[in-house]
Amino acid sequence: KPVIVWFRDDLRLADNPALHAAAETGLPVLCVFVHDPALPLGRATRWWLDGALRAFQASITACGGELLVLHGPTFEIMCDVLRTLQPAGIFWNRRYGLHERNIDSRVKDYCKENSIAASSFAASLLHEPWTVQTRAGGRFRVYTAWWRAVCEMGDPACPLAAPERLCSAPVPEVLAGRTTVDALALLPKTPDWAAGLRAEWHPGEEKAQDYLGAFLNDTLEGYATLRDRPAGVSTSRLSPYLRFGHLSPRQVWHATKRAVQTASHEISLADQDKFLSELGWRDFAWSLLFDRPDLASTNFRPEFDAMRWLDEPDMFTAWARGQTGYPLVDAGMRQLWITGWMHNRVRMVVASFLTKHLLIDWRKGARWFDDTLVDADPASNVMNWQWVAGSGVDAAPYFRVMNPVLQSEKFDPDGEYIKKFVPELRHLPVRALHAPWQASPAELTRAGVRLGETYPCPVVEHRFARERALAAWKASTG
Ligand code: FAD
Repeated sequence: KPVIVWFRDDLRLADNPALHAAAETGLPVLCVFVHDPALPLGRATRWWLDGALRAFQASITACGGELLVLHGPTFEIMCDVLRTLQPAGIFWNRRYGLHERNIDSRVKDYCKENSIAASSFAASLLHEPWTVQTRAGGRFRVYTAWWRAVCEMGDPACPLAAPERLCSAPVPEVLAGRTTVDALALLPKTPDWAAGLRAEWHPGEEKAQDYLGAFLNDTLEGYATLRDRPAGVSTSRLSPYLRFGHLSPRQVWHATKRAVQTASHEISLADQDKFLSELGWRDFAWSLLFDRPDLASTNFRPEFDAMRWLDEPDMFTAWARGQTGYPLVDAGMRQLWITGWMHNRVRMVVASFLTKHLLIDWRKGARWFDDTLVDADPASNVMNWQWVAGSGVDAAPYFRVMNPVLQSEKFDPDGEYIKKFVPELRHLPVRALHAPWQASPAELTRAGVRLGETYPCPVVEHRFARERALAAWKASTG
């Protein structure tokens, strides 16, 4: 009898406790992945999943195994696999979204009824949500306190090695939902909008390790001070790799600490600690979603329910297309559209712009991000949107309205980021890059910029927008 490993958002060989445990049994191993058409995957993540599955199939094959790709409703497909194969056991790594937990527990029940041993493992977070508790045994709602408790828990478990060799199980001829990655048709057809994604990203475990190595060698030093600069590479860019589980946060944690201890030159502990605490936000987001599965649709703070958001589709389109007339906002939205990713500082600026300057509901912005980000993550996305909007847990207060021009001057002082993604402004003097409407007519002419023609005038004036947002907030909170 074989054992089954059911892969989900954990497409890696190393530090994969479910795979590790299955290999340890010494029995033939069958690896399965189910693509459920009901799963609300955005277009950018579908693109990523295609590459991720191909890369993972290749690594499993190189290890002597086989990854079966199945298509259909997850629960029914998994029951069919279990019925057909009658395995000695099934192994998977735990998930924390409500829908996923429900499916997993139904599969577990099916196994129990049919005397199949089902084993699940912790693999995708530093610590599972229920293990981080206040002294009174409750849950944290403030990140700093949560992070302090995490640090007191010590290092997370050490990563496991990849299995050296898998003993492959014969695959039955007929298996419901059996398909190929090609047949899943996850890639865009026409128009092919993914050229920028292909140029930027290469899904897979091997690439994840390359990114991690490059970050630890070249970028970790200075991370605490430079991470807010969107030009160039100032952060790890590991988010899509973590999203699909090409590497685990535990691997990142331990590799970071090792790199700091063994670096030939000194890397400050401030850089290490800042980076690890950013990694912690990902866990925090999942622990929030674990407790509040409705977070994607519901304000964490109910007083925001009365907020009168504006319904202005033209404004939303200007934002989504990077045509607001605020260069930093436009650069960010275009980076997202072209590469499927956006720097964290700019994510905050564009999210603040949408929810406060344009007074558009954060849920609309979160849906756009969900569709266009290669790292779109059900927990991190909504937690951060609610955080910026002010409706979330431990959130930035609503009255703190980011000024997109000041943010631009502070974090993109040379305008390098703007020039890259808003090239029609690249000949403006740096000062005017942040606010082209303040350039003199001569400067605009020299730079070939005609406001309202080659680049939009601001869709809303900052001071007016700020006052309007504050008034709306006051009206909603009484
Ligand atoms: P680094 O600075 O190198 O950080 C390392 C890792 O820590 C990241 O890969 C990520 O896994 C985690 N991390 C860092 N910051 C955060 C954070 N604020 N919240 C949660 N995890 C964090 N991140 C996503 O992974 N998916 C999303 O869908 C997502 N949506 C966001 C929406 C908004 C409005 C905002 C403001 C932020 C969002 N983030 C999201 C968080 C953050 O912007 C990205 O994780 C980060 O930009 C990824 O780049 P990096 O890997 O270079 O980060």
